[in-house]
Amino acid sequence: MKIGILSRNSSLYSTRRLVEACEQRGHETKVIDALRCYMNINSDQPSIHFKGDDLTGFDAIIPRIGASVTFYGCAVLRQFEMMGVFPVNESVAITRSRDKLRSMQLLSRKGIGMPVTGFASKPDDIKDLLDMVGGAPVVIKLLEGTQGIGVVLAETRKAAESVIEAFMGLKANIMVQEFIREAGGADIRCFVIGDRVIAAMKRQGADGEFRSNLHRGGNASLVRITPEERQTAVAAAKIMGLGVAGVDLLRSERGPLVMEVNSSPGLEGIEKATGKDVATMIVQFIEKNAKPQRTRTRGK
Ligand code: ADP
Ligand code: GLU
Repeated sequence: MKIGILSRNSSLYSTRRLVEACEQRGHETKVIDALRCYMNINSDQPSIHFKGDDLTGFDAIIPRIGASVTFYGCAVLRQFEMMGVFPVNESVAITRSRDKLRSMQLLSRKGIGMPVTGFASKPDDIKDLLDMVGGAPVVIKLLEGTQGIGVVLAETRKAAESVIEAFMGLKANIMVQEFIREAGGADIRCFVIGDRVIAAMKRQGADGEFRSNLHRGGNASLVRITPEERQTAVAAAKIMGLGVAGVDLLRSERGPLVMEVNSSPGLEGIEKATGKDVATMIVQFIEKNAKPQRTRTRGK
């Protein structure tokens, strides 16, 4: 098969591993930087050009679209979908997963467990907002944050009020969330492919740190997950419409709670923590599912 990898940089670990896995299984592969593609949008023959070449004949695309290039990256992916190419994750599903509020609304509608969460833009009654989510301690998150930056634990009501006021001064959208103390500074990353969790790791924050992000000094290890965690992760990926997803869970007294569903989950952490060849499993997923015109949305 001919498999395209939409990625800005072919030296990134995940991209390198995917290229390797494709080649090992005898597929032709090309790394495509979406930002450098230009497209012809017309009704009888949509096309995509890259460095002067017409990108045709692809059977599948593996989108590895960074958060900062979601808009244009998804447009390029949609163009491939219009040409009938099978995407590992569809453009609409990626767009959906990049919007935290929309994601959480969709997941809650389907009864997926999640921390009690309030959203606000310019709350005129911070006290009421805090009451709504059960009062302090709360975790306050900047919606635009990644890698744990802009995620603050406020142990007291006073602290929560001042953090919310400060964030409001930045004109940022925020999320105010029940603090899951019993998670103990850890979360579980479930790597979902199709309808299975194929690898899972526990990320534990550094001493005294409630955030488990590896960028914040956390470390990752192999973990056995429960059937309920497995079910929750698979259901969350399915609701988002993602073929490949990284589902982040917190272990709480009332069962697994979904924090986030990631549509371009990194391979380095999970492969190193679990020793599994996740890249090859993604390629096998393509082999099983890619047929012409297999996109459900066709970019719509
Ligand atoms: P980011 O998307 O920037 O990584 P997260 O929302 O994933 O931000 O939060 C970072 C980390 O903080 C999580 O991995 C988790 O360990 C911890 N955390 C986040 N929300 C909560 C919460 N409601 N209760 C307990 N810990 C949390
Ligand atoms: N309403 C659904 C959503 O928010 C479907 C819309 C779409 O597929 O774009 O994801």
